[in-house]
Amino acid sequence: MIAFELKTAISELRGLIEGAKSILPFTGAGISTECGIPDFRSPGGLWTKNQPIPFDAFMASSDMRNESWRRRFVMEESFAKAQPGRGHRALASLYRSGKVPALVTQNIDNLHQASGISPRDVIELHGNTTYALCLACGERYELSWVREKFEANGQRAPACNCGGYIKTATISFGQSMPVNAMQRAEALTKACDLFLAVGSSLVVWPAAGFPLMAKRNGAALIIINREPTEFDELADLVVRTDIGDALAPFIVS
Ligand SMILES: [Zn+2]
Repeated sequence: MIAFELKTAISELRGLIEGAKSILPFTGAGISTECGIPDFRSPGGLWTKNQPIPFDAFMASSDMRNESWRRRFVMEESFAKAQPGRGHRALASLYRSGKVPALVTQNIDNLHQASGISPRDVIELHGNTTYALCLACGERYELSWVREKFEANGQRAPACNCGGYIKTATISFGQSMPVNAMQRAEALTKACDLFLAVGSSLVVWPAAGFPLMAKRNGAALIIINREPTEFDELADLVVRTDIGDALAPFIVS
């Protein structure tokens, strides 16, 4: 069924959540919009103004690396201020209750970890933009360090001691998907009896594969998203209300 009304949405959600033994939340940009994180892909989003820099361009050109960092520091105002929203807090409550063993996200904003979910239980399909890694040796760098060097060097991106390029720990277009994260996401999808997609349009690969995989394995499927998705007909419950409003009653503080 499709719930357009908040009251119906909450009571249907409650029924399915209470009946489930193991819930796998799968989150996308929509859960973070109330936190001030822009949805890159939406109309008017960042990517319609600035084409994303593909991985091979980042690797090939120092201008692209500098530009990529310049853009990242412009966005820092939104990322640094952002606090977990009602959706994040509700999922963290379900995690604490023991019903959610881990969570899969397409988001790079670190807000699930900030809401209290252990970093090892947040599976990030697109990485994390709140810190950086050397692409050659894997050394971790904090953004504040990168920014200091960047600004002191006339807006040029610093390199690692090993000579490797330093990039936010995100997965760029054209960069290979993180193998371990993909495997864990698949195993969790097959193990859950309720797959809870929140704020994802479920279009971008690999996100599109998981709801189907869950359904085939006998799990119930809930989709909470403002816009219709391709999987709505397959879902046991579709919620089209505001995400924060729908999940707020599940926050246990
Ligand atoms: Zn290095």
